[in-house]
Amino acid sequence: MSRFLSSRLQSLQAYTPGEQPRDRKYIKLNTNESPYPPSPRVLDAVSREAVSALNLYPDPTCKMLREKLAARYGVGEDMVFVSNGSDDILNFCFMAFCNKEKGMAYADITYGFYSVFAQLHCVPSCVIALKDDFTVDVKAFESCGMNVVIANPNAPTGIMLPLEDIKRIAFANRDSVVMVDEAYVDFGGESALSLLPECDNIIVVRTFSKSRSMAGARLGFAIASPELIADLELIKYSTNPYDINRLTQIAGAAAIDSDEYYFDNAKKIIETREYTAQRLTAAGFKVIPSKANFIFATYPGVCGEKLYSILKEKGILVRHFGSERIKEYIRITIGTKEEMDVLCGTLEDIVSGKGN
Ligand SMILES: *Cc1c(COP(=O)(O)O)cnc(C)c1O
Repeated sequence: MSRFLSSRLQSLQAYTPGEQPRDRKYIKLNTNESPYPPSPRVLDAVSREAVSALNLYPDPTCKMLREKLAARYGVGEDMVFVSNGSDDILNFCFMAFCNKEKGMAYADITYGFYSVFAQLHCVPSCVIALKDDFTVDVKAFESCGMNVVIANPNAPTGIMLPLEDIKRIAFANRDSVVMVDEAYVDFGGESALSLLPECDNIIVVRTFSKSRSMAGARLGFAIASPELIADLELIKYSTNPYDINRLTQIAGAAAIDSDEYYFDNAKKIIETREYTAQRLTAAGFKVIPSKANFIFATYPGVCGEKLYSILKEKGILVRHFGSERIKEYIRITIGTKEEMDVLCGTLEDIVSGKGN
């Protein structure tokens, strides 16, 4: 018991972020960051001049960013919401659309923050088990009668849910909001943006943290009907209107102008992902086919925790989750080809008995 903490928060289990160690230099494959730096345009945009204006508050409407995103994705400016990372947007969605009567449905194996937000806001959850092959039980979502949040591609599996299924879920829950968390969509997924004209209850949530190499700048956005965007604005202006700082607004705008650079990086990451998956499969790993910038892999008879620990000793960080259904697995972010060669070599040694 914490003496001063509100009674409703006493049992709250916070999200555990991946390690960001400072003790030694690791090959860091644990938090799905891009191995590539932001685009040269971004580096130039955050100038000395930009820094000197930090005595002034940033534009709370983020007009420049929203204009650019609207043009880039072919929607109206009133369909774009930006925030300090997509985690904030997900949080705002829980605040805006849920209450004791209207809960949130999400998969048992998915992004860990959804259950934290549900607890934080005392919102009932409907946890829908993925099927044995880790695909989404679409029928169960169709009949949930709640708001829905789906990571697509899913984390930490990397599996993509076809748009047809998202559409079914959105149609079946007309009076609820369906959040499609597309943090990884640029690595081979299909965006639900194309469903927006038919489904005014879908919110597409995106981030600059993964494919746009800006995890350190904290920038996320959502695209949805003007009605839903206005609801998110209400929450933003009731919490922190200046949530995106000046430097991030400038960097974000330059990043939107750098599509080619990021497209090339995503292409490299996809190639490296396929290479890594093949090599680990050849070494006896089971690798789930991924449409994200990570792979989820397991080796028969060796627990994920052990692989994680040996890799860490050897200077490679990956992510291991302790929950029952996935404790045999490790999630490996796709780094550069060179980093993945070191990873594959190390894993090959470990499983052939040379590495421990
Ligand atoms: C990384 C990630 C996010 C968080 O992104 P930020 O914009 O950095 O807050 C959201 N959802 C999923 C599924 C993610 O993997």
